[in-house]
Amino acid sequence: MPEDHVPDDLLTQHFMDDLDPAESDVIHRHLEACASCDSRADKIAETMAALAALGDDFWSWPSPDGSLTSADRPAERPR
Ligand SMILES: [Zn+2]
Repeated sequence: MPEDHVPDDLLTQHFMDDLDPAESDVIHRHLEACASCDSRADKIAETMAALAALGDDFWSWPSPDGSLTSADRPAERPR
């Protein structure tokens, strides 16, 4: 991965353990070095924790095959 910032969707996948360990490791290192992405990562982690607190079946994601529909993807819901 180049020295780019980590996009939100990749951060989400990182927290969902949906990435290869090597890829996740690159993100982890970037977060330790980059305050900007680290603060976004905190917000994403908070959001995911809040969603998890609503119950596993509130959002039917991640789906077993990894596919997401716009209807059940919280990242695309209006704030
Ligand atoms: Zn960054």
